[in-house]
Amino acid sequence: MASDNTHPVLVPILGDQLTRDLASLRRRTKDDTIILMMEVWDEATYVKHHKQKIALIFSAMRHFAEELRDAGWTVDYTTLTDEGNAHSFTGEVARAVERHDPRAIHVVEAGEWRVQQAIEEWPDKFDCDVEILNDDRFISSIAEFRDWAESRKTLRMENFYQEMRKKTGLLMEDGKPIGGKWNYDKDNREPPKKDMNAPERPKPEPDDITLEVIALVQEKFADHFGDLDNFHWPVTRQEAEEAASAFFSERLPDFGTYQDAMVHGEDDLFHSMLSTSINIGLLDPMELCKRAQLAYEDSTAPLNAVEGFIRQIIGWREYVRGFYWYHMPDLESANALNAQRGLPDFYWTGKTDMLCMADCIRSTKENAHAHHIQRLMVLGNFVLLTGINPREVQDWYLVVYADAYEWVELPNVAAMILYADGGKLATKPYAASGNYINKMSDYCKDCAYSPSKKTGEGACPFNPLYWHFMDRHRDRLESNHRIGRIYANWDRMDEEKRQDYLDSADAFLDTLTPAGKSWARLTD
Ligand SMILES: Cc1cc2nc3c(=O)[nH]c(=O)nc-3n(C[C@H](O)[C@H](O)[C@H](O)COP(=O)(O)OP(=O)(O)OC[C@H]3O[C@@H](n4cnc5c(N)ncnc54)[C@H](O)[C@@H]3O)c2cc1C
Ligand code: SF4
Repeated sequence: MASDNTHPVLVPILGDQLTRDLASLRRRTKDDTIILMMEVWDEATYVKHHKQKIALIFSAMRHFAEELRDAGWTVDYTTLTDEGNAHSFTGEVARAVERHDPRAIHVVEAGEWRVQQAIEEWPDKFDCDVEILNDDRFISSIAEFRDWAESRKTLRMENFYQEMRKKTGLLMEDGKPIGGKWNYDKDNREPPKKDMNAPERPKPEPDDITLEVIALVQEKFADHFGDLDNFHWPVTRQEAEEAASAFFSERLPDFGTYQDAMVHGEDDLFHSMLSTSINIGLLDPMELCKRAQLAYEDSTAPLNAVEGFIRQIIGWREYVRGFYWYHMPDLESANALNAQRGLPDFYWTGKTDMLCMADCIRSTKENAHAHHIQRLMVLGNFVLLTGINPREVQDWYLVVYADAYEWVELPNVAAMILYADGGKLATKPYAASGNYINKMSDYCKDCAYSPSKKTGEGACPFNPLYWHFMDRHRDRLESNHRIGRIYANWDRMDEEKRQDYLDSADAFLDTLTPAGKSWARLTD
């Protein structure tokens, strides 16, 4: 179509779409395009996001707008404090339509259901063409995942992952997986070595734009969870590239082996810490996977590390995104285990004698981050075993992590940790006693509780809670072949011992004080 300066094309770019390679931008010319970027109150507060998460997104948006303008694009940018800001995406697009009288709006589909619902109303609301484009930063489109899912009886990440390996050609040779196996997870479960620490990641210092945003967040979102003092997330492509380079050269070699390890006070270990950058578009997931493969080809990282990293991205990350869209909106209200307890207040305050929990919550508060096994096997295990209502857990995870967007948070929370989907994602609940945490971390040696004590005073709460969970969900879980044999162990215990476990768990559950939802939502 010929360019038309009088009626340009309006290209709204959302806060998690910060790449010049975005589908809506790739095919546009600078002379007849207005890029619209919007800081709106509705998005910053639909849950009370961690302060660092808001600072990250606003700062990255402002830097990206500058990058676009330097490259010659016209950017119409609404800041949070602009007079007249309508404070919703639809309201801001309506104002921009009035300002620019565009002939069309080109927008890339939203990451979250809620926002996508709003975008799908735009064709009826606005008197111009509205084109909603696939987000091709993902390797598998939503439609492709749906086709795959509909062709199978059960959805398993491992099968999907193998399809993604074939599709991308990553770690493939003559149609077969390099090394002969698809998955080297068995080599990726080493506990930490004594006094283990990892090379420190680059921590970019906030520049003037970030400092201005931090001040804005301090002022406007003072009652949101989390600290801002420790804000060191990459906010530009260059900073994100530097973080990625440091990961590939210094931490990838040990990434696989210690993927499940936890060390008190060591918040990053060998993890990439790249999710915040990938999820907002500063890094391209496929490029990262190619770089990981190169590290294997150059013999600078072993296969178990490289395969493990690639699996997290083209396996888990793509899979949960497809799973989210396939199961929404039902996934949001799923509660197969009928969990009704309120989220304990210490998820917000960190005040608990359980050292593993306290350390994971401290890192969450200080860094807006905890690594995967902390999210899954400590914080997640606890809410599973204690039967916390999925909606409250979903809110918490969505609030507290700087990388949290519903498409990735919800499947991990509802399906992976809470089994609220009844087993569509995981073959069994990820339930564990204190034994697991003791094996995979150095937490227990300094904890007020003892992992070897099974019941009563001083016993690690995970021990009785584990059996309490198994006992109360026996009807549902006993027939699961991956878990059924556990009940043989339970039945072998004498009645008194079993009762002791249940009483200990009940006594612990009685000590929990629900926080109430006001921490996560503005009104409730
Ligand atoms: C309960 C729970 C909630 C989670 N919520 C989020 C979330 O809101 N946002 C988010 O990005 N990740 C989430 N994850 C996945 C994972 O914990 C984070 O991606 C990871 O901790 C980010 O740190 P990293 O970049 O150092 O990851 P690394 O350990 O270095 O892994 C590399 C990359 O793999 C991807 N990845 C790894 N595991 C997963 C997974 N299970 N699902 C999707 N992608 C994955 C991420 O992009 C990550 O950057 C959640 C996991 C659990 C168990
Ligand atoms: S003893 Fe239990 S509560 Fe304490 S650190 Fe170990 S697993 Fe956590």
